[in-house]
Amino acid sequence: MRITDLTVHDVRFPTSATRAGSDAMHTNPDYSAAYVVLETDADLAGHGLAFTIGRGTEVVGAGIRALAPLVIGRSLEGVTGDMRSFWRSLTSDDQLRWLGPEKGVMQMATAAVVNAVWDLWAKSAGVPLWRLLADLSPEELVSTIDFRYIEDALDPDEAVDLLRVAVPGRDDRVRELIEHGYPAYTTSAAWLGYDDAQVDMLVREALAEGFRHVKMKVGVDTAADARRAETIHAALGGASLMMDANQVWGVDEAISAMAELGRFDPWWIEEPTSPDDVLGHARIREAVAPIAVATGEHVQNRIVFKQLFQADAIDVCQIDACRVGGVNEVLAIMLMAAKFGVPVCPHAGGVGLCEYVQHLAVFDYVAVSTSLEGRVVEWVDHLHEHFVHPARVSNGRYLVPTAPGYSIEMHPASLEEYAYPAGPVWDGLLR
Ligand SMILES: [Mg+2]
Repeated sequence: MRITDLTVHDVRFPTSATRAGSDAMHTNPDYSAAYVVLETDADLAGHGLAFTIGRGTEVVGAGIRALAPLVIGRSLEGVTGDMRSFWRSLTSDDQLRWLGPEKGVMQMATAAVVNAVWDLWAKSAGVPLWRLLADLSPEELVSTIDFRYIEDALDPDEAVDLLRVAVPGRDDRVRELIEHGYPAYTTSAAWLGYDDAQVDMLVREALAEGFRHVKMKVGVDTAADARRAETIHAALGGASLMMDANQVWGVDEAISAMAELGRFDPWWIEEPTSPDDVLGHARIREAVAPIAVATGEHVQNRIVFKQLFQADAIDVCQIDACRVGGVNEVLAIMLMAAKFGVPVCPHAGGVGLCEYVQHLAVFDYVAVSTSLEGRVVEWVDHLHEHFVHPARVSNGRYLVPTAPGYSIEMHPASLEEYAYPAGPVWDGLLR
């Protein structure tokens, strides 16, 4: 099978109209996707996307187009036979790498393309992505990872050993997840732009739906956060509360805000400061313990994750499926997390992130971590209807995906209707 063409779609949803998705830093997001389709000479296409929040989606689209010559004309077998070299050909192109390296727009573009290749591989094998990964041997999995810059923390032999230890019981864990699902938590109840009454109602609804973990946005006004946390905490009973500041604070501000908000007993504070500030996270973690520190949705590559682990800077590793360079790099991060004993709780929500990360979480439990303790996957209940095989959550747990591929293919009608700026949804709304 040969990849014959690459097409890019700029797809945007006017979510800012309801303030769904609003947080301390992103007050009016229009959830969007730089979406790519890899056409082939067979009856299959690979689909991938990088999640964006409105303006700038066209920039990521340009990044994806810049990668097209590195992909078009390649055979799928040639790519999957040496995934490590394919991945490095995208991230280390001798001219494009100047734009990063391995960070920002080009890294997101890489993620969209790499994930489309994995989608194509899983579809051609007729299995969901998690199953494709779980059926690879430890050596095959490790052969997809580029260890450049991380070998001082984890080398290929150690990675193989970590995976080998987790081989026994893989089938039992698969059966367990198929029967019971993977624990989810909800972020949908407490966006920053929602008023207190709305939050109270949504938290109660979430508990009735079976969620045992609820996350609230914080960070603009600590007194208002405390008032809202009190309402949520009272409604939660024994369920867990998490807080997410979306990078709004400096290090000292984070420490003093959490001294205030700690009385509501949050499990974790997420993105308390800049995602690049490894030492800042370490300082915050030490100061706010036993509150856990979580980050990852804006951590740009495996190298920064490596430092977060080495510096004991985080308690929770929030991998993102399309912030770093796609499945290959996520595998590197998951294996480092396993080595350093940090649980992986994937970042989701957005457009397509729940669809993506359900596969990564299932694979993590089945083949890497072998534990569900302290592990939950984010869930945001919107925009799933645009996907051919949407993620499904029931009774507070993700149901294991069954359709072949990476679950990221959108309906053609959604791609047309929400196309930016020409789609009918954007008539009269252009900003
Ligand atoms: Mg977050």
